[in-house]
Amino acid sequence: MPPKQPTADPFYASKAWRGIRKVVLIRDHYLCAICHKHMPRMAVDHIKPRKQFPELALDLSNLRTLCPVCHARQGSSFGRSADYKERPEIGLDGFPKGWD
Ligand SMILES: [Zn+2]
Repeated sequence: MPPKQPTADPFYASKAWRGIRKVVLIRDHYLCAICHKHMPRMAVDHIKPRKQFPELALDLSNLRTLCPVCHARQGSSFGRSADYKERPEIGLDGFPKGWD
């Protein structure tokens, strides 16, 4: 497997997303909304799935910071589509890629 995959979804490479992602992380003090822990690679999660609510994709009230563990759990419990990728890079501190 190559260490990097092209981002399937250009949304996550967009400047708008990268910008708002940072705003959410700072707003949430880089703490997980569920377990309140801080880990090296925090994810920003869409509370309402972006595919069903595209108009909320960049809405701060629909975004929250999650740690990799809770993020993976959310992804599976909500049955996110398999192409969902928050961070295409490797290095999720022991967590495999494609963990959904
Ligand atoms: Zn967490």
